[in-house]
Amino acid sequence: MNFHILTLFPEMVLNGLDTSIIGRAEEKGLIHVEARNIRDYTNDRHKKVDDYPYGGGAGMLMQAQPVYDCWKAVRDEIVSRGSGNTAAEADEIKSGDSTSESAGSGNSSSGRRIRTVYLTPQGRTFTQKDAHDFAREEDLILLCGHYEGIDDRVLDRICTDYISIGDYVLTGGELPAMILVDAVSRLVPGVLHNDTSAETESFESGILEYPQYSRPEVWEGEKVPEVLLSGDHKKVDEWRRVRAILRTYERRPDLLKNLHFKKADRKLLKRVEMTAEEKKIFEKLLQDHMDSDRI
Ligand code: SAM
Repeated sequence: MNFHILTLFPEMVLNGLDTSIIGRAEEKGLIHVEARNIRDYTNDRHKKVDDYPYGGGAGMLMQAQPVYDCWKAVRDEIVSRGSGNTAAEADEIKSGDSTSESAGSGNSSSGRRIRTVYLTPQGRTFTQKDAHDFAREEDLILLCGHYEGIDDRVLDRICTDYISIGDYVLTGGELPAMILVDAVSRLVPGVLHNDTSAETESFESGILEYPQYSRPEVWEGEKVPEVLLSGDHKKVDEWRRVRAILRTYERRPDLLKNLHFKKADRKLLKRVEMTAEEKKIFEKLLQDHMDSDRI
């Protein structure tokens, strides 16, 4: 999978993504991250890429021209190396005909779709579902704003998605782009040492993951839950399901809307050790989230 990051600070994203699991994935050729400097595409002889916003107001805005030309260079490279493009399509794109993108879709008129994501606090909040969705793309263009943001006309022209990493404002889109690359890359087959480890993780089934422990068995007087040492996989799974549900109740009750119990889950009340208070909570959750067709 190829990530193309359009930014004014390429070294920031490249330095941030060349270590640990993501760095190794790139070394192995499972992913490729390129950072394109938007400033290299400005027509301004002083290499300026920003200007004052019309109508007044604080700060500077990134201008449409360098952003568009940078995006177009990357898009043309993707299309001309892609196997699916026709010669006519490549010619149409190379001719620089601005009508070759349908507004807001980032597509060429002949239908090749290049997913282009603008990282912005005004986007939808990034979720694990988005990460899975993006992981299906072969190429993903990520656009990082800076200063007060980017001229909306170019965004309308090239962006297919508007993604925020949370309801707060950062100085630039570089950290959000790195977060997206990290979350998406670990879903690319082969990137994680054990691909099944992603399956049990928080959000994959809609709720949080269960608590986990490693050696030593006793740390500062605290013992690992006995069931995890039992070697009984069924019991371990049951305990993990209950703990994942109770943890979600405690830390992210908003996610409980994703919780669906099956009839067999009633047995967990008796089979898994819980405090009296936890039992009460679990019983209430069973009442509220039992799939009606499975009762
Ligand atoms: N004026 C913009 C607004 O009020 O919506 C904020 C611009 S912000 C200071 C500069 C850049 O940082 C944005 O163009 C965007 O790329 C990035 N950015 C800031 N906060 C972000 C967030 N929560 N998620 C994704 N990108 C963000």
